[in-house]
Order: sequence, then structure tokens, then C-alpha cells
Amino acid sequence: MKGFLERMQWKMAGAMQGRRGADSLSNTLVVAGIVCLVLSVLPHMGLFSWPALALLAYALFRTYSKNIAARDRENEAFLRATEKPRRALSIGRKKWENRETTLYFKCKGCGQELSVPRGKGTLRVVCPKCKTETVKKS
Ligand SMILES: [Zn+2]
Repeated sequence: MKGFLERMQWKMAGAMQGRRGADSLSNTLVVAGIVCLVLSVLPHMGLFSWPALALLAYALFRTYSKNIAARDRENEAFLRATEKPRRALSIGRKKWENRETTLYFKCKGCGQELSVPRGKGTLRVVCPKCKTETVKKS
């Protein structure tokens, strides 16, 4: 059985030679396709099976494509277009992870996200962007 699996692994590696493989855009397409697929199972939502099929087919096409330069350009355009929401998501995740040790707040002058360690008493914070001074109880 182990030999069979190893042979399959080698065959897969051979089949993927010179192909693009999965990237951020393909992974996002697969997730969107699965969401559409789940929606299509719900009553009166059957129409979602078409975008699900299209998204998954396009993700497969991109993953097995041999035109690596074109797929790279598509992926870069996708990453550029989604930079802001991805950054907001990553900041949100960081805030949630550090919620017990760090206090996050926005600068009153420019809206820049600032942070101070919790439990250090009253702190004077100077915004690095606009130099507005804020007194914050941590
Ligand atoms: Zn500021």
C-alpha cells in the first residue's frame, strides 16, 4: 500500500511538472466556488450551482495551466486589487490575538491605528504619523 501511494505521489509530481499549481487567486476561487456550492444546496438557491461550477472550473484551469507568465500576471493583479481588505483582515486578526496584552485605538488627528501595552497606567502617546498627542489609560 505504501509503495502504491509513493508511486501515485511520483505520478502526480510528474503531471504537475511545468504547470502553475495553486496560488492565492486559485485558492480564493476554490473557496468562493465551495461557498456557492453550499448555497446552491439550500432551497430556492439552485442557481448558485452555475457560478460554483464556473469558479471551480476556472480554478482547475489556472492550477493546471502551462502558461505560467499569464497566470502570474492574473495572480499579481488579484493580489494588488485585494491588498486593502487583506491588510484590514490581518490587522483585525492581530488585534484579536493580542486583545489581552495590547490596547488598540485610532489617532484623533489622522485616524492612524495606534497601540499601547495594557496595564501600564496612563500613557502619553504621540502619533508617529501626525504627531498628535493622546493621553490614554491602558
Ligand atoms: Zn495621527
